[in-house]
Amino acid sequence: MRNRPLRIGIDLGGTKIEAIALNASGSVLARRRVATPHGDYELTIRAIVDLVCGIEKELGGLGTVGVGTPGAISPATGLIKNANSTVLIGHSFDKDLSSALKREVRLSNDANCFALSEAVDGAGAGAEIVFGVIIGTGTGGGIAVRGKILTGLNAIAGEWGHNPIPWPRQEELPGPQCYCGKKGCLETFLSGPGLSRDFLNATGLHHEPTEIVRLAEANEQAAETCLRRYEDRLARGLAHVINILDPDVIVLGGGMSNIQRLYDRVPRLWDQYVFSDRVDTKLLRPIHGDSSGARGAAWLWPVEPRQLI
Ligand SMILES: [Zn+2]
Repeated sequence: MRNRPLRIGIDLGGTKIEAIALNASGSVLARRRVATPHGDYELTIRAIVDLVCGIEKELGGLGTVGVGTPGAISPATGLIKNANSTVLIGHSFDKDLSSALKREVRLSNDANCFALSEAVDGAGAGAEIVFGVIIGTGTGGGIAVRGKILTGLNAIAGEWGHNPIPWPRQEELPGPQCYCGKKGCLETFLSGPGLSRDFLNATGLHHEPTEIVRLAEANEQAAETCLRRYEDRLARGLAHVINILDPDVIVLGGGMSNIQRLYDRVPRLWDQYVFSDRVDTKLLRPIHGDSSGARGAAWLWPVEPRQLI
């Protein structure tokens, strides 16, 4: 190992498993990815073990292993809950992985890993409180405080996607049906499919979010109006978070974080909802992009000061 602390982070996604190896200063030493085995728990464990062993062979040393997964480990049962990757639900994934890899493996929610990655050496580096938001096909969130994940008693800290949309307009009630069983969850408005549905309801046309953004840039009125509604909803959702958590930085991740106008417009809209004379909270693009999940998983093993000497 040549005195080189090696951190391996695994991002377990629905379509791919990505592995990254970082040194103590966050430089990438190795990177690998494989397709996620479909619907097979044992093969998922095997794929992660192969990735870790492959990287360790390549770099010549053992590393710590952290894994970012959909869902969370239920503190009550030790089993994975809330995962949209159903193959993990009900398994002691951390214990099974630890015994397969013959070492302690740390596990956290993928949105938590995103928040941690951006807090350690990304857009929120140096900030005390970072709220990381992933808005893509779903809407998730994670909180990092002083460079560590805030997990919470129920392991759901930062999960704002299934709160109802705050300060609702008349036409937003009761809101679209959510898969969680409730109506009008933030996710039903803010996810990519939520934006597409809003545009469909207004125009009768189905477009992907990227196309709606392109139409708005081409001064298409319905698309512009739809995006303005979206920005106001995102501002209300985040204002709710600011009122409770008061983060220094909010970092957007997931597909919707590629909509550039959000970073300028949303902070101008949230002032009216936040209970404060002024709002200095920053809304920032992610620095590490798609690597954030794997990087954050690697940082589940924090750097001790002596390792930096
Ligand atoms: Zn919901």
